[in-house]
Amino acid sequence: MPKLTICGGGNAAHVIMALAPNTGWEVDVFAPLANEADRLQAGVAAGGVSAIFGDRQVTGQPRRVSANPAEVIPGSELVLLALPAFAHGATLQTIAPFLDAGAAVGALPARGGFDYQARALLADAPAINLFGLQTLPWACRIIRYGQAVEVLGTKAGVDVAVSPVGQADDLLPALAALLGLQLKPAASFLTLTLANTGQLIHPGIMYGLGRGREADTFAAADIPLFYQGVDPPTANLLQTMSDEVQAVAAAIAARDTDFNPREVLPLLGWLLHSYPTNITDSSSLQSAFNTNRAYVGLRLPTRPAGPDRFAIDYTTRYLAEDIPFGLVVLRGIAELAGVATPTIDAVVIWAQARLQKEYLVDGQLVGAHLSETRAPQTYGIFGFGF
Ligand code: NAD
Repeated sequence: MPKLTICGGGNAAHVIMALAPNTGWEVDVFAPLANEADRLQAGVAAGGVSAIFGDRQVTGQPRRVSANPAEVIPGSELVLLALPAFAHGATLQTIAPFLDAGAAVGALPARGGFDYQARALLADAPAINLFGLQTLPWACRIIRYGQAVEVLGTKAGVDVAVSPVGQADDLLPALAALLGLQLKPAASFLTLTLANTGQLIHPGIMYGLGRGREADTFAAADIPLFYQGVDPPTANLLQTMSDEVQAVAAAIAARDTDFNPREVLPLLGWLLHSYPTNITDSSSLQSAFNTNRAYVGLRLPTRPAGPDRFAIDYTTRYLAEDIPFGLVVLRGIAELAGVATPTIDAVVIWAQARLQKEYLVDGQLVGAHLSETRAPQTYGIFGFGF
């Protein structure tokens, strides 16, 4: 059997642990964070991991879980980074010495600039094929660690970038069978970086619904709904951010005929493409968010703030991932393409203050923490041709 190693022990990793062992792969798991490997091993030994898709359930039993890359990475034909983007760098660095020549290493989702970072960190590894998914195929939450994960929604189709491009013919069918999804080749990682809708949706809604509410506290039942709570000003903000991305895509296409801007869907088009049967009212961007069944009940992230009170948490991955591995990457590309992005800039400036980071200063990507991001400038790319 071909061997697959899943890196990570979070929500997405649980779904893959349930699915992959049933599709002809020998599955190992690399989970170095805290005591996750032990906790996963205990759950797996108790009967495997179940993914619950409504009234359907799939259970898989990984062969081995380890916090030691030497035990699980060698021999892997496929390595899946099922991780938030802020964990990609440390993980790539740790696994690099153990990768076999010809292994395919990919992230789901890639988020922005995955290829810049992976090429830099795997420069000394033997010939590696890279791939990235435009989005995580599932909305999913662990119910019992190492045992069960609930899949709240599955996207109808997901775009995948592969480098070198010629490997896509072999890789995509294997990935599609493994994940139980329709996958479509994206022309390049640049397409994925621009088409990363999480970088618009998460910071955009945090800004729209959370700005100015830093000092507010809420009873649990009053915490604002995240997607169902999108109001007209927030929908307008999201639309403007999406329009700015379209302008960047058009500017790149004008100079690079290999780049297809139609692969970078506007936000409403992406929602309808990703959730064709989940959205009840697709007449506007706001209604598409408000009436998407996959988004029901999800609230703004919070932290405890006194007895039975909660305050909005501005440090979760909605900003900590989607700013340095999303909007800042996009902003860096916009700068190289010569396109102004005033609304995206406003969101970055507000969000970086919440994260206590500095990326954008006086309209320039020169902040003290820029090197922690995957902006092309971090990797020495200062001209058109990224
Ligand atoms: P998660 O929050 O469950 O992942 C956390 C896991 O990542 C940890 O349990 C650990 O295993 C690993 N990790 C974190 N920091 C690490 C480090 N420094 N070193 C090594 N491992 C580390 O994430 P998820 O929900 O599985 O999401 C994965 C990706 O998919 C993220 O990019 C997320 O934004 C995206 N996404 C998730 C959902 C969802 O419904 N879960 C939906 C859309 C997109």
